[in-house]
Amino acid sequence: MSIIKADNLNYDYLEYGEDGEKPEITHAVKDVNLKIREGQFIAILGHNGSGKSTLAKHMNALLIPTGGTMWVDQMDTHADDEVWDIRQRAGMVFQNPDNQIVSSVVEEDVGFGPENLGVPTDEIWKRVDDSLRKTGMIAYRSHSPNKLSGGQKQRVAIAGVMAMKPKCIIMDEPTAMLDPNGRHEVIQAVRDLNKSEGVTVILITHYMEEVIYADNVFVMDEGRLVMQGTPREIFSRVDELHKLRLDVPHVTQLAHALRLKGLDIPEGILSIDEFVNAIMKIRDGETASDGKGQGERTCQSD
Ligand code: ADP
Ligand code: MG
Repeated sequence: MSIIKADNLNYDYLEYGEDGEKPEITHAVKDVNLKIREGQFIAILGHNGSGKSTLAKHMNALLIPTGGTMWVDQMDTHADDEVWDIRQRAGMVFQNPDNQIVSSVVEEDVGFGPENLGVPTDEIWKRVDDSLRKTGMIAYRSHSPNKLSGGQKQRVAIAGVMAMKPKCIIMDEPTAMLDPNGRHEVIQAVRDLNKSEGVTVILITHYMEEVIYADNVFVMDEGRLVMQGTPREIFSRVDELHKLRLDVPHVTQLAHALRLKGLDIPEGILSIDEFVNAIMKIRDGETASDGKGQGERTCQSD
């Protein structure tokens, strides 16, 4: 069953100028159809301005479609009386951790969401404890969030969303402002939540290395959903991705370049291990044919 479903989703931003008469219209999302099943880890890729954030904001009713329908856990986001239910099912984490801190103590910050939902005090503390443990931040419960690193702040923000017990967590470039360590901490925490808690994760990111963990990848361009598939399927389409001004993981790019040079290496290599295995296989093949006295080379020179 889908936790998120978009049917011909469209969204237009209207901007009124000084004269207040004719608004300028931006078609930010165009005819998007998608389904996300409960428990999936989804990555969304796309160049700047391709509509990723606009799409993501529909997934917890921060924006309501100007055309078509968005379903969140079977609820139509057009229904005013379900907005709070929807926001509880689908929590959102944004790019800048500083904008998401509401309290001067970590545990109070994490308890803020469930308190707003009217959760009884005992239960709030249980959830705070649990969420901080799951994001690896329990040792910082009485610290001031302002003194934490970017990666730690984002993990507190994720714990805050988790404490509301959402079925789904939507993250809009949560690692964009972090250093490599911070990025690693956050992605690890999110993968754990997905694997061990079964929370559906929707991750918007510019970092291709974060995408390889996804079950499914959606690629946006100019408001449209232009590709979807597993990371391997998506990253096998290197040239198309380049046309959309998107990169692929470094190791995928290297394998692709070698393939263009004539090496018999598969497309869609996602990790260094896969790369090494593919190279070893080619080497073993060469050794075997060398044994027959032929020594045929698969790699052509320029
Ligand atoms: P992305 O997250 O992929 O960078 P966005 O969803 O932020 O893309 O933006 C999609 C399009 O909508 C862009 O053309 C952007 O300029 C426009 N847009 C985004 N937010 C607003 C807004 N608040 N008002 C008007 N236009 C906007
Ligand atoms: Mg964005």
